[in-house]
Amino acid sequence: MRAGTSLLEADGLVRRYAMRRGVFGREVEVRAVDRVSLRLERGRTLGLVGESGCGKSTAGRLVLGMEAPDEGSVSFDGKLLPPPRSAAWRAQRARMQMVFQDPLGALDRRLPIGAQVSEPLEIHGIGTPSERAGRVETLLRDVGLRPDQATRYPHELSGGQRQRAVLARALATSPDLLVCDEPISALDVSIQAQVLNLLVELQERFGTAMLFVSHDLRAVRQVSHRVAVMYLGRIIEEGEPDAVLHDPAHPYARALVSSIPHPGRGGQRIVLQGDPPNPADRPSGCSFHPRCPVASALCARESPALKPRPGDGRLVACHVAQGEVPAGSGLPELRKAA
Ligand code: SF4
Repeated sequence: MRAGTSLLEADGLVRRYAMRRGVFGREVEVRAVDRVSLRLERGRTLGLVGESGCGKSTAGRLVLGMEAPDEGSVSFDGKLLPPPRSAAWRAQRARMQMVFQDPLGALDRRLPIGAQVSEPLEIHGIGTPSERAGRVETLLRDVGLRPDQATRYPHELSGGQRQRAVLARALATSPDLLVCDEPISALDVSIQAQVLNLLVELQERFGTAMLFVSHDLRAVRQVSHRVAVMYLGRIIEEGEPDAVLHDPAHPYARALVSSIPHPGRGGQRIVLQGDPPNPADRPSGCSFHPRCPVASALCARESPALKPRPGDGRLVACHVAQGEVPAGSGLPELRKAA
């Protein structure tokens, strides 16, 4: 484990699932999360970014204890997380809340918003009924809703208002940590910026730490103090957002960042050749080597460790970025789209 005590420390997390190949095929093991270590300070945001299926959402569930890791450990506020679904874990959940992708799916369509915002307070036995009513009013105002909207049902609110209600419910118990899993991807583009601004504002006011899980690099850059990029279950680069997103060190991170339109880059985008590998049939060595433009022979044999790069200390899992081997020709080569 890395030195120092953080609010959240995840060390060497591994999560495996059994998957059947075809209807009559044999069962194979898939590593959704593979030796992932994370550290999050109080009042800070760590952005966990990668393509769909890279394991970032599973990592979010592991740090909340919604699933148990097959290997590794999670410590919250200096103590190991209690086993999932145990009484101690349920009590701890008041301090660790989740914001899901789909606000309509996260809310109960049969209950008014106010009752749903009040629910965590009742579950954790916080306040009297009148204190809870006052708290609901305050929370609705905090997230930009009107107190009279407490009587509305989810279908009577817009998508953005529903996500605000989800945030009010998540903040009800004054948690130390919010895990936000793709919190804006189900919203209209016009509403996304408002919700991101609200997350930043709420963090500044209440000091809540956030694990912000997203495939959207621009959103991650807007809210994060630190960014970790995942590929096929592993973190392949981690550092300050400006450093990682302006000058990525890992070839996969470079391709990912090039997909963001940027005025100064002339619209050039790196298109990776080949499909993402099947997680049930991982390539040997570095999982990225069949698609990497600078892969060397070592890359197919040896998996690179995530470690500080000589010179600037950026965490990167790449033999070439670490200067262990010169850049090779790569197979297949990247095609640069005009
Ligand atoms: Fe992986 Fe090698 Fe490419 Fe680095 S250079 S990303 S280690 S294949």
